[in-house]
Amino acid sequence: MAFQQKRTGRPHGRPQNGNRSFGGRRDANKRGPVKKYIHPSKFINKAIEKVEEVYEPSHAFVDFPFGAGLRHNIVTKGYVLPSAIQDQAIPHIIEGKDVIGLANTGTGKTAAFLLPIIEKLSGITLRPSVLVVAPTRELAQQIDEQFREFSRGLGLYSTLIVGGVNIDRQIRELKRRPHVVIGTPGRLKDLLNRRVLQLKDMSTLVLDEADRMLDMGFLPDIRQIVNEMPEDRQTLFFSATMTPEIEALTANFLKNPVTISVRTSETSDHVEQDIVEARDKTHKIELLLDMLRGDEYEKVLVFGETKFGVQRLSDHLDNSGIPSAAIHGNKNQSQRQRALKKFKDNHVRVLVATDVAARGLDIPNVTHVINFDTPQTYEDYVHRVGRTGRGGAKGMAYTFIDQR
Ligand code: AMP
Repeated sequence: MAFQQKRTGRPHGRPQNGNRSFGGRRDANKRGPVKKYIHPSKFINKAIEKVEEVYEPSHAFVDFPFGAGLRHNIVTKGYVLPSAIQDQAIPHIIEGKDVIGLANTGTGKTAAFLLPIIEKLSGITLRPSVLVVAPTRELAQQIDEQFREFSRGLGLYSTLIVGGVNIDRQIRELKRRPHVVIGTPGRLKDLLNRRVLQLKDMSTLVLDEADRMLDMGFLPDIRQIVNEMPEDRQTLFFSATMTPEIEALTANFLKNPVTISVRTSETSDHVEQDIVEARDKTHKIELLLDMLRGDEYEKVLVFGETKFGVQRLSDHLDNSGIPSAAIHGNKNQSQRQRALKKFKDNHVRVLVATDVAARGLDIPNVTHVINFDTPQTYEDYVHRVGRTGRGGAKGMAYTFIDQR
């Protein structure tokens, strides 16, 4: 690769020794949590040298008791075989069991819960309903999009209840009693408090990326939501991690759950990961520009630490002839959606984002993830890197670190 020779004179791809402080240092001028130290070896993974393990599902989609319409939609969506979480969770969900799914992003967990839910709802006139709670607006929106695709022609309706958009429309939509309500905790609670959202007749609750929701401080909202659901509901609980806190939650919210874990490695083996050493900020930007000028950088997600830094970097790329879009907390919902759409529709090759803004986003075909700033925690790193190498595609992830 052309940029590799230019990056620095040092060899790459080897773990560095010692407890250097690039990940543990705190800039005296910066506020916010202290970064956790992450050894550079954690940012390296030579995917190409690994033998790929292919999951062999014990079911085909036709083995599941899905109706013709749903089967047709699965084929239209291009799914040939169930992923591991789909293969293992769908039979239990169809049986009506509570399920704990331990699955990273990109494993196909969305369809794992949506398909049996759609089957359960099809052809029922009574209209039992389903509540799906997700940590971010973008994730909720992606779940809604997948729901619409999988339920096409089946006469099922969903409503998206997220913050940052007009509430009156959401109120009107809820009054029409959709089959599925998909939302983020804050806005759901708001509508619950206004007595517009009624949970007492809901039959199914899905908590997606529960660990993220806890990280983001949504626990009180979630508790309130769960408390207003009927006791005899079905609960499907998804999380990438199983911490004591998560375990306590599942003990509270679920009844005799079946646990399915499909977490194989922390980061996808499809993602080759490497470090890039830089002397200072100016050098980092030079290196980044060098990299982005390479033809292979077709769809690149660049992560920065702060809202301002992300916007500055995006502006800098624009001024250097590399048009980019930016998503961060200083943009409102429609600005974020516009930026995301520009990137998804290939109007720009580069999207610069903060961790929070990028959480849960499903952007197909990201070829490269570049950690311009090192992540706060290794878990954040895993989430960032999970944006590429999805659905079996190959991905590359580079992390900038201080040069020794
Ligand atoms: P998720 O983990 O639900 O965010 O899914 C990650 C990506 O994999 C999405 O783009 C899905 O459309 C895709 N996907 C999920 N299940 C399958 C499958 N069985 N076959 C092919 N692609 C899938």
